[in-house]
Amino acid sequence: MKPFTLVRPTSLAEAARLSAASDAEIKAGGVDLVDRMKEGIDSPKTVVSIVEIAGYDRIEPGPPARLGALATLARIADDAGLRKAYPALADAAAGAATPQIRHMATLGGNLCQRPRCWYYRLEEFECRKKGGDDCFARDGENRFHAVFDTDLTCCCVHPSATGTALLAYGASLDVVGPKGKRTLPIDRFFHRPVKDPTRENTLTAGEIVAGVAIPAPAAGSRSAYRKLKEKESFDWPLVETCVAFTLSGGTVRGARVVFGSVAPTPYRSMAAERALEGGTPSDALAKKAAEAAIAEAKPLSQNAYKVTLAKVELERALRQAWA
Ligand SMILES: Cc1cc2nc3c(=O)[nH]c(=O)nc-3n(C[C@H](O)[C@H](O)[C@H](O)COP(=O)(O)OP(=O)(O)OC[C@H]3O[C@@H](n4cnc5c(N)ncnc54)[C@H](O)[C@@H]3O)c2cc1C
Repeated sequence: MKPFTLVRPTSLAEAARLSAASDAEIKAGGVDLVDRMKEGIDSPKTVVSIVEIAGYDRIEPGPPARLGALATLARIADDAGLRKAYPALADAAAGAATPQIRHMATLGGNLCQRPRCWYYRLEEFECRKKGGDDCFARDGENRFHAVFDTDLTCCCVHPSATGTALLAYGASLDVVGPKGKRTLPIDRFFHRPVKDPTRENTLTAGEIVAGVAIPAPAAGSRSAYRKLKEKESFDWPLVETCVAFTLSGGTVRGARVVFGSVAPTPYRSMAAERALEGGTPSDALAKKAAEAAIAEAKPLSQNAYKVTLAKVELERALRQAWA
C-alpha cells in the first residue's frame, strides 16, 4: 500500500469538497477501498473518511423508509421494521459477506463498491476498467462473469446485494456534492458500460451518497430476494434474484424483476416484468417469466450454467413471494 493522508471532515459538504480532487477517495467502512489499496489497484493521495460524520447512520423503517448511507449492513439486516416492510432488502443485507464484514460495511459503500472481476483486481492486468484496451475476461477465465449485457465494453458483474434489492423497490438516493444536493432515482444510478467501463455509477466528482429513500409498498405488495453461492459461508453470489410486485384482485401488477451478479449493473428484466403483468400466480406463470428473462442472456464461453441458475432462482423467488 502506498502512503496516503487520512482526513476526517465533520460534514458531508466538506467531505464532498475534499473528495472532488482526482487523487482523493471517500472511505466509509473501508472494506472495499482498503482492499483495493492493498491490492495496488488504487493509490489515493488523500483518503476522506466519512464514517464518523454524525447523522448519517439512521434507519427509519417507515414505510416509506429513509436510511442513512452510513447504516451498516448488519443493522439493516436486523431491523424488524425494515424486515416487515422490505423483506428483500433485509435478506440481501443479511446474506452479504460475513458477520464481521456486515458490521463494518455501510449501505453507501455497498452501493459504490467496485467489481470483483479477478482481472480488474490484479494489478498486473491493465483491463478496460483501469483504462486499458482489453477486457481479458471476454475470452479468458469468465466462469463468474456476466451473462447479460455481455456485448458492452466490460463483462464484470456488479457486486452490490443491496443495489439489487433497492432497484426492485424503486428507491432513490440523496446525493450531496460540491455543488449542493440532488435526488437520484436508483434506475439512473448504475452506469451501463456502453462506452465508458471505468465507472459503475453516475455520481460526478465529489458526489457522495448521503441516504436512500424507499417508497412505501402498496397494499398487497410482495417481494423476495434469493441468492446462490458455491458455499454458504462467505462467498460471492453466482446469481441473485429480487422480485417486487403487488397482488391486486389475485393478479400480479407493477412487477419489478432484478438480477444481481449477472451483468455489469444490477440487471432489470423488463421481459420478465411484461410476462408477469396481469398474470395469476402459478408455477406456469413463474416459468413463463423466467423463460422470458433468460431469452435475453448472452453467456460467455465458460458461464452458460449461470443462465440456468438465473432461470431456476427467478422461479423460486416468485414462488417465495406469492406463497
Ligand atoms: C469475502 C467478502 C465477501 C463479500 N460478499 C458480498 C456479498 O455477497 N454481497 C455484497 O453486496 N457485498 C459483498 N462483499 C463486499 C462488501 O459488502 C463491500 O465491500 C462493503 O459493503 C463496502 O462497504 P464499505 O462501507 O466498507 O465501503 P468502502 O470500502 O468504504 O467504500 C467502497 C467504495 O465506495 C465509495 N463510497 C463509500 N461510501 C460512499 C458514499 N456514501 N458515497 C459515495 N461513495 C462512497 C468509496 O470511495 C469506495 O470506492 C463482500 C466482501 C468480502 C471481503
